[in-house]
Amino acid sequence: MGKEIPSRSEDYSLWYNELVKKADLAEHSDVRGCMVIKPYGYSIWEKMQQALDAMFKETGHLNAYFPLFVPKSLFEAEEKNAEGFAKECAIVTHYRLKNDPQNKGKLMVDPDAQLEEELVVRPTSEAIIWSTYKKWIQSYRDLPILVNQWANVVRWEMRTRLFLRTAEFLWQEGHTAHATADEAVKETVQMLEVYAEFAEKFMALPIIKGRKSEGERFPGAVDTYCIEAMMQDGKALQAGTSHFLGQNFANAFDVQFTNKEGKLDYVWGTSWGVSTRLMGALVMAHSDDDGLVLPPKLAPIHVVIVPIFKHEEELNKIAEKAKEITASLKKQGYTVKFDSRDTHKPGFKFAEWELKGVPVRLAIGPRDMENGTVEVARRDTKEKQVMKIDEVATKIPALLDEIQENIYNRALTFRTNLTTKVETYDEFKKVLDEKSGFVLAHWDGTPETEAAIKEETKATIRCIPLDAVEEAGKCIYSGKPSNKRVIFARAY
Ligand code: AMP
Repeated sequence: MGKEIPSRSEDYSLWYNELVKKADLAEHSDVRGCMVIKPYGYSIWEKMQQALDAMFKETGHLNAYFPLFVPKSLFEAEEKNAEGFAKECAIVTHYRLKNDPQNKGKLMVDPDAQLEEELVVRPTSEAIIWSTYKKWIQSYRDLPILVNQWANVVRWEMRTRLFLRTAEFLWQEGHTAHATADEAVKETVQMLEVYAEFAEKFMALPIIKGRKSEGERFPGAVDTYCIEAMMQDGKALQAGTSHFLGQNFANAFDVQFTNKEGKLDYVWGTSWGVSTRLMGALVMAHSDDDGLVLPPKLAPIHVVIVPIFKHEEELNKIAEKAKEITASLKKQGYTVKFDSRDTHKPGFKFAEWELKGVPVRLAIGPRDMENGTVEVARRDTKEKQVMKIDEVATKIPALLDEIQENIYNRALTFRTNLTTKVETYDEFKKVLDEKSGFVLAHWDGTPETEAAIKEETKATIRCIPLDAVEEAGKCIYSGKPSNKRVIFARAY
């Protein structure tokens, strides 16, 4: 059928790329590093957005929209943030093209249309948002501000990969302003919890909640919290971040408020984001050599019904039954697709829906019609069973729940098996090279040690887990004392 993808063990990276393309999630575009998200892929992203958006609203946030362009003078106001993103910025310098007199039929930048001030295409929106918050905030009565925006951002990444790292990506970014440090830290942690819950409940993706080391912190943040997931090649993927910004942006943009005591103080901030990278995480964590394995909670199609028929009369009878099944499942909130195409054989359709990760497939043939049965195949385990048609409306929802849980448990077992505690640097390197995965090791807490380990092994500190237990130990690199283990891994 021309849809074959290489296996994961053959070439994991190629498997991922081919799968993303062949399953109609996304493809490369004519713009370097930018992708086209196709309708099937976008349907999954929309499901992610809907679930997250509901969780943001539940925790008191409202959506707003800020401009794509950030005047350079605003962009450079928070120095660390500016420095951190400077190397990957796209900048608008002109606003007009004109006919090129030297080159018929071609256009050139009109030198007379140079902007007085260059505009940075937002790599993140703290600058434009905090310059706006200055106008919104005067007193403690104006706080907190709890805003989220769904937007695109641009980071001129040199090494790109569909969904995981693109030059333009879609995301949401929350930006909140608070009267006290305590409140802002609580918000930062709350949103980390929201991401963790979303990853585990909807994406069926087990994650580790933690804090980033200084070296991996968001530029301009006081503290960066993150969720880290493991992909099927044992590499780590940072799946979401929540930053405590302290008063850094309030200082940079002079955002002060009169507190309850009548004194002027700088506002405390947070920001938090997840991106279309989550689509990559979803694919890399669960899918297999036959295609996508989608958790039912994010699958655009929950159940596909494939009729097995020789002639139209048979198809019409099956179609009647399919209609009843569809209605009974639709009432319960499930999306059902009846694949009645007569241009393709059932085997082709089976493979195609497997590739697309539809969690449950029902096949109905003439014999099933006689017996009042249907063949049910689940995508995650490939197991098949025969079910009475009358039971479909009650048993399929239960099966979908079971699949959701099974996918999560499978990923959790995988992660557990690929998580290793080590005591020495030799052991550390051996585990990274021979087993990969997460390595729990003692670290002396210095950026120098972290950088040296990264240089020598390509492994980075993914996070200092929030639930790390206090335990006296020695840094695997320097031998200096350490009181808890951190997670090292090679990462995307
Ligand atoms: P940050 O603003 O750097 O904390 O990133 C916010 C979110 O965007 C994180 O969940 C990152 O994983 C994700 N992200 C960062 N860079 C990219 C990129 N180039 N493509 C896709 N997602 C990204």
